[in-house]
This record gives sequence, C-alpha cells and structure tokens, in this order.
Amino acid sequence: MTDFFGKRGRSWHVSAVITKGDDGKFDVECFVHIFNSCRQACSAICAILQSVLQTIKSDNPALKKAFLRSDNAGCYHCAPLMLSLSSISQKTGIAVLRYDFSDPQAGKDICDRKIASMKTHIRRYVNEKHDVLTAEGMKEALESHGGIKGCRIAVAQTEETNREYPRQKWEGVKSWNNFMLETDEDIRVWRAFDIGVGEVVSFPPVPQTQDLPTLKITAPFGPPQSHTSHITTSTGGEKSPLFHCPEPGCVATFRSANKLEEHMDVGEHLKELERESAYDKIRKQWAQAVTGIAHGPV
Ligand SMILES: [Zn+2]
Repeated sequence: MTDFFGKRGRSWHVSAVITKGDDGKFDVECFVHIFNSCRQACSAICAILQSVLQTIKSDNPALKKAFLRSDNAGCYHCAPLMLSLSSISQKTGIAVLRYDFSDPQAGKDICDRKIASMKTHIRRYVNEKHDVLTAEGMKEALESHGGIKGCRIAVAQTEETNREYPRQKWEGVKSWNNFMLETDEDIRVWRAFDIGVGEVVSFPPVPQTQDLPTLKITAPFGPPQSHTSHITTSTGGEKSPLFHCPEPGCVATFRSANKLEEHMDVGEHLKELERESAYDKIRKQWAQAVTGIAHGPV
C-alpha cells in the first residue's frame, strides 16, 4: 500500500508492508523514501518497489511471496510497472503474485494514518527551532525523539540516466483493476475485485535488454525496530472504553489509542444493530420471502 506526497518541494513515498508471522499475527512496517527531487512517475515507483522488497528480503530471508495494493493513480496503474513485475520478482527473490488497485484516494488508510503522525512529528521538530529544508533534514526530523513506531526512513535519488524508461504499451491495462500473475507469460485480470473468474491474457513482448530503473540510496533505512506495530484482530468491546472506532456504523471500543489504531489497520469493523425493533424483524422476514423463489409463501 503506497502513497506519494508533496508535489512541490520534497517528495516522499510511503509503503506499508504487512507481514504475517508464524503465530498468525500481522505486523505493519512503513518504509518512507524521501527525495530532494523526483518526478512522480512509473519508473520511480518501479525503483521504490524494488528497494522495499529488497529491504524486507534482507531482514527476513524466509519471505517468498508478496501481494501488492495501491490506489489507482497514474504512476501505479501503468503498463511499464505491470510489465516489470516478473522482472522485479526475479531480481528481489520475492514473487509478486497479485496487484490490486483501489479507487483513487481510497484504500490506503494505513499510509494516511502514518502520514498524519509523520507530519505531526516534523511539526514538533520545527517548533523546537530546527530547520527542515532538505530530504536529509526530513529524515532527521522523523527519526528525532526515538522516531515513529514502525516507520523506517531513507533518502533516495532516482537514477539519472539519459536512457528513457521505454514507453511500453499494453492495450487494456487501464480497464483492469486486479492482476494475478499465473505464469511468466500469462496473467489473470479482473475489472472488479472477485467478480467472476477473470480473464487470462498474455503479456505483450517486453524488450529483453531492458534494465529495471533503480534508486540510489544516499541515507539508508535504520535497522528494523523491535516494536513494529502488532495487529491483533481484537474487535474491542473492552470495559471502560475511551476510544470509539470512527468508522460509521462500527461499534468497537478500545481502552488505548494503539488498540484503536490496530483495529483500523485490520479494518474488520464490528457492525451490529444495538437493538432490533419489531419493524426491523418484519422487514427482514419480508426481504427473505421476496428474494427467494424456492421457499416461503408469497
Ligand atoms: Zn471499527
């Protein structure tokens, strides 16, 4: 899950990595790439994706598979990135099995919440009479006061070459939103998530000589933090709650802000009618009666 921020001045890109441990619990770690200047383009995303996968592979060599998700912005949903996925898998040793796009500006709530804490962190550092003018300064600000839980920061440059990232064309790439890599030649695509069995299409031929764009990391990520955010699938309901889930309709409550954040990262909201009136019951029975033809007198 990713987000690009800052059209002018410095740019940063936030990737949230969710891993499932042997105990079945999920961990969230955010990787932030900061650039002094960067064109928000497919080639940058391709390089960032490799950098993230390489970093998590070196931290955890047992990782073998990845499922990607991002919003529908043009720099993600483009032919060159989709066509690079199998080369990225080979190069990083982590097989990218799926890529799903959500609607523009939707489905990146973990990134948005981390970005909110990152902005607050930088604001606090600036209030302490520090200047934050460069990408290096932003990394310093974000790592001040022990950093932000579960966030690792690097300063990077996009590779400066005269060679243009080849403008590959792939008819239809914009009309599909879900991609599942089946073999090196075939990919299964859907227009909408989980609707039907999808359609198997072949990759258009990709020039073999093409190298993947890479990043030059000028200030590397810090070591993995021992306290990455731990996601539990608790749905709340604790005694003397202080925090209520802000999702409309969700009745989960929590004693700490951390627990609330974990609940929102998982996104399994607890929707429950507080009480069911006689009218609700009648409506449900009526709905059952009219939606089935096999049973029920109508
Ligand atoms: Zn909720």
